[in-house]
Amino acid sequence: MKTAILGENTNRERLIFCYTLAYVKIQIEIICDILHDIFFGEKTPRPFIQLLEEGKTDDYGYLACYEIRVPNNFKKFNTIYVSLHNNDGNPLEVASTLLHELVHHYNACRGIQDHSPDGLHNEAFRVAAEAHGLLVYEDEEYGYETELNPETKKYVYDQLIAFKKWSLI
Ligand SMILES: [Zn+2]
Repeated sequence: MKTAILGENTNRERLIFCYTLAYVKIQIEIICDILHDIFFGEKTPRPFIQLLEEGKTDDYGYLACYEIRVPNNFKKFNTIYVSLHNNDGNPLEVASTLLHELVHHYNACRGIQDHSPDGLHNEAFRVAAEAHGLLVYEDEEYGYETELNPETKKYVYDQLIAFKKWSLI
């Protein structure tokens, strides 16, 4: 993603940044659709996506669960926040962040606690991640960390690159 445009201060450059940001958002939504369709489909609702600009988080992404009041009820919805600063613009890097957060979303929809209060991923996270296209390895800081497994990587690559749906690289 073209975060280098941040910090420039002419109106024209700000406008270009806004268009770029909107375009990046669409592309991240497309990646989320691809991953959600193939791994989760009808099993979970499609979460919302929000972008975080530089300095808003140290993480690549995170999931937030919300509840809104509707007549006579509450409705739950989840949002995946994706950091523009920490993802390097490679669509496979973004896909890796999104799929990791989609696993948290999948567990949250089932009421499964998949991490400790201090953020360490637990066994429930590992099992769900391995069942949904991720390679899991032990990590001192996070308990378990993830990356796309080779089949997922190839699938996303084929979908995006072969069909030219990603053009900011
Ligand atoms: Zn996580």
